[in-house]
Amino acid sequence: MNLEQLSQAIEEERKVCLEEIKEVDNIDKLNLFKGKHIGKKSLLTELFASMRNVDANDKKEYGKMLTSFREEVNSLFVNKEKELADKKLLEKINNEKVDITLPPYSLPLGSYHPLTLITEEMVSFFKGLGFEVASGPEVETERNNFELVNIPSDHPSRDMQDSFVVDKGIVLRSHTSAVQSRVMQSANGQSPIKIICPGKVYRRDSDATHSHQFEQMEGLVISSDATFANLLELLTKVLRHLFGEKREVRFRPSYFPFTEPSIEADISCFECNGKGCSLCKHTGWIEILGAGMVHPNVLRLNGYDDNKVQGFAFGIGIDRVAMLKYGIDDIKRFYLDDVRFLRQFKKE
Ligand SMILES: [Zn+2]
Repeated sequence: MNLEQLSQAIEEERKVCLEEIKEVDNIDKLNLFKGKHIGKKSLLTELFASMRNVDANDKKEYGKMLTSFREEVNSLFVNKEKELADKKLLEKINNEKVDITLPPYSLPLGSYHPLTLITEEMVSFFKGLGFEVASGPEVETERNNFELVNIPSDHPSRDMQDSFVVDKGIVLRSHTSAVQSRVMQSANGQSPIKIICPGKVYRRDSDATHSHQFEQMEGLVISSDATFANLLELLTKVLRHLFGEKREVRFRPSYFPFTEPSIEADISCFECNGKGCSLCKHTGWIEILGAGMVHPNVLRLNGYDDNKVQGFAFGIGIDRVAMLKYGIDDIKRFYLDDVRFLRQFKKE
């Protein structure tokens, strides 16, 4: 085939292609077009193959004409392919009707966990009095959890707390006092300190009022002039805030290894107003929290001069407060994830 014959063949094939591409209105027809005009059995491929018989002088021009024609057919194919895709998308958009009059899906809102509600209420109360919130890890060293708060390894109160041992010298913290020792350690003997530490703690207890996991909020104040009277005033305020301004507050001497003197605080029963009922075990009083002046050993162990500073600490069981406030009979209800129970609590 010479150049003129080639030119003629191309011209005829071009006409056919242009005619046929017009008729292509779906992807199947487009694929047929591709097979027929670009594929292995196409005229184009045949013409490329015939190049080997072409006169050496014409070869270059022959190849050029064919390549240019192949590009032409290719772009016919590519343009049609895009046209079909656009058409399909447009059809899809037109067929998808959005009914803006339909009511929106309503997603049910969850509720706050009762322990979260109590924690938030207490945190906001203490923040209002200038306390900062401190936190620490739940897996603690025995040193932070016991030794630094005046509970040496042979101390009988270690039995009292029956902790979960994770590894040698490592426990699940049995109280948030571990956070207190961390804060005191990092303060390097500086005061004042005025913190609360809310968080989960773990003990090997289990009955209707004890769970192996529960929430505690401890507080610590260290300064040159923090007094026992300040502590009593603060506790009276927080208990009346939680249980009502009319509550009587009573303090009894008690014992904790980390405080001296130590006290426990009771409130007059809000159910019977002190007359005696099953909630207050017929005593008229409900036991709420423990507190005391920070033991001089604790101050010394954590880098303070107990002749220059003093302080007080207190610990409140958040579960206990929530059980009393909401009238909950079993502490395990807090940890069973029963939505029928949980959805009864709303943020006020
Ligand atoms: Zn009572």
